[in-house]
Amino acid sequence: MTNSQPTIITRQEEIPFPGGRVRFLNGADTVQATMTLVEIDGLTMLVDCGANPFQTPVELPDEAFEADAILLTHAHMDHVGGIPRLLTSGFFAPVFATDTTLAITRIALGECIRQNGGEHRDVRAFSGGLDHIARSVGFDSPFKPFSKRDIEITFHPAGHILGAASIEIKTEQARLLFSGDIGPATLPVAGAPNDTWKNDQPFDLVVMESTRGDVQADQSRMEIEAALADMIRTAQAQNGHIVVPASIIGRTQELIHYLNNITERDDTLQIPVALDTAMGLRIANDTPPLAAFVDESGLAKLSRADDPLNIDGLYTVRKTKDPKKLRELDKTTLIVTGFGSCDSGRIVSQLIELLPYPENTVLFIGYQAPGSVGRQIISMSDGQQEDVAPTIQLNDEDIPVRASIRTLPGLYAHATQPGLVNWVNQLPNIKQIALHHGTAAAQDALAKALSP
Ligand SMILES: [Zn+2]
Repeated sequence: MTNSQPTIITRQEEIPFPGGRVRFLNGADTVQATMTLVEIDGLTMLVDCGANPFQTPVELPDEAFEADAILLTHAHMDHVGGIPRLLTSGFFAPVFATDTTLAITRIALGECIRQNGGEHRDVRAFSGGLDHIARSVGFDSPFKPFSKRDIEITFHPAGHILGAASIEIKTEQARLLFSGDIGPATLPVAGAPNDTWKNDQPFDLVVMESTRGDVQADQSRMEIEAALADMIRTAQAQNGHIVVPASIIGRTQELIHYLNNITERDDTLQIPVALDTAMGLRIANDTPPLAAFVDESGLAKLSRADDPLNIDGLYTVRKTKDPKKLRELDKTTLIVTGFGSCDSGRIVSQLIELLPYPENTVLFIGYQAPGSVGRQIISMSDGQQEDVAPTIQLNDEDIPVRASIRTLPGLYAHATQPGLVNWVNQLPNIKQIALHHGTAAAQDALAKALSP
């Protein structure tokens, strides 16, 4: 159905709608942590509670601590990273999310607490606290979170990563939609975003992400597979490794899917895949779509393997291995290490080990925000032909970037501009669209594309 020329709003921190207002507590014009406050009928709800969980201390706006409910679109850190901080303050309002989002959030944030030096009991306290306030929500099943208010909420599939949702909020006066992160229609594991919407009431406000709003083309499945095959052949010929900064959530499943496809056609491309994070095994076991890519013998290997020196195929590095050991493997290995942003976590030590050597490849399968370490490394690939290698500062050391730097934008899990415009075109009767979670350039480009 065609839209009746919605007003497009960019970079505005506060947007009124009938009976309330939406405020971007952060993420109004960046792709960093996002947190949106919905004030409605005397209540406040947070849509997402993003923060960098490695920041010490994690700082959250005051409004977050006073919210009457939290609605989580999906389990990426820039959407859930502030939850442990809320829990330690005694926060006890309900947190609504899909089962998969809750499962990944529990595992991923537990891992962050461990990496931040937390003890087993801290992780247990976090999991227990989250379980206490978590309320599981099914897709396309409207519910009313507050007994005395006529506020109806529905989670719809958003593609992007497993469990990801767009969230619809309906009152007698208003209909709102929060896109969450919108995936491209081509992701084999996460699936496509919802494209069927009720037409019983106009949308007063659609709050929409714009991460790749200024990107036109996307890689096709065939292009992804060809690029991946080429990367593996090159790494094998040079006897190097491929390191993938990714958080084992979402994109890693998609990557394994494509690896499966290309090795089925050409078994010389079969290389061991190491999931170098404690999350790897648990996510593999807990999320059926990933388990489906591993046959029974593979799963058996997964559950007993923790030594990359002995096992072929897909395995996890359960203990914190010395990254030097991975570099010394004589067979080309694809090493997936958290976290995707390259700023913190185990990926930093992997990069220190692998970046200085030209036989290695660093492969980015996730969007890297401007200013991030990942984006800096990608921009350095242009200067690699020069005699002196560019350097990147990691853990206060200047590390030369001689490894080959590659990207697979087709796995970025964010729809590009045509996908975002198509998502809007499926929505009937929109009055206003407010863009957020994107740079100014991405928002302006998307706003232009959405304007009649
Ligand atoms: Zn996301």
